[in-house]
Amino acid sequence: MPEGDAVYRTAARLRGALDGQVLTRSEFRVPRHATADLTGRTVLETVSRGKHLLTRVEGGLTVHTHLRMDGSWQVAPAGRSVPGGDRVRLILANRQWQAVGVRLGMVDLLRTADEGKVVGHLGPDLLGDDWDPAEAVRRLSRDPDTTIGEALLDQRNLAGIGTIYRAETLFLRGVWPWRRVGDVGDLEGLVTLAQRLLAANRHHAGTVTTGDRRPAHQTWVYGRAGRPCRRCGTRISRGEMGTGPQERLIMWCGGCQPG
Ligand SMILES: [Zn+2]
Repeated sequence: MPEGDAVYRTAARLRGALDGQVLTRSEFRVPRHATADLTGRTVLETVSRGKHLLTRVEGGLTVHTHLRMDGSWQVAPAGRSVPGGDRVRLILANRQWQAVGVRLGMVDLLRTADEGKVVGHLGPDLLGDDWDPAEAVRRLSRDPDTTIGEALLDQRNLAGIGTIYRAETLFLRGVWPWRRVGDVGDLEGLVTLAQRLLAANRHHAGTVTTGDRRPAHQTWVYGRAGRPCRRCGTRISRGEMGTGPQERLIMWCGGCQPG
């Protein structure tokens, strides 16, 4: 599942292909907006907010997309055959470039003035210009009885963390995923570390939290269930938490993150 850093990179690719250019092709392959047509309008910019993408178009319109589980935006020179077959949800193209949204979990078209309705609930964006760790801590602290593992994925607290950064951040801070938020000693240190991990990966593909970019060396616990902890040798545990069907997966080290 794409996390905030991948969405941030996707926004940058869309900016490079679409910003300032007039759309020559616009195909919404979703029932709700099947008749929408943005052809002839100039794309102003694409921004990311947490895991959401907002593509603003001349005339006060915003295309709101979300990659969800396995969606992607594929950018290629205009006129290339469109990848993705019947999984294509949206095509936006100009004379030079085409952007093809494949398996997007959400495609919506709304007035730019109404963006707050779809992203206004989000907590501070870990990769946003307005990242505010104190505000993230304040939001996390509203519900001290929830587990820290669930709270970190709740985008209303802070926006951009998915299952990989959750597991890696909690390992690096030595925090058991089921600890109550109210019992985590240094929430500001926790969210600041999460922000640093995402920021360190925002310009390249892949998630590296160990500083070692070699395959199979990139993470401490995520993807390493049953293998020895890199720090203490304990076998990494794997479990499920929370309710979201695709966001339950958690891995931790029982030695470094005692319950
Ligand atoms: Zn360990």
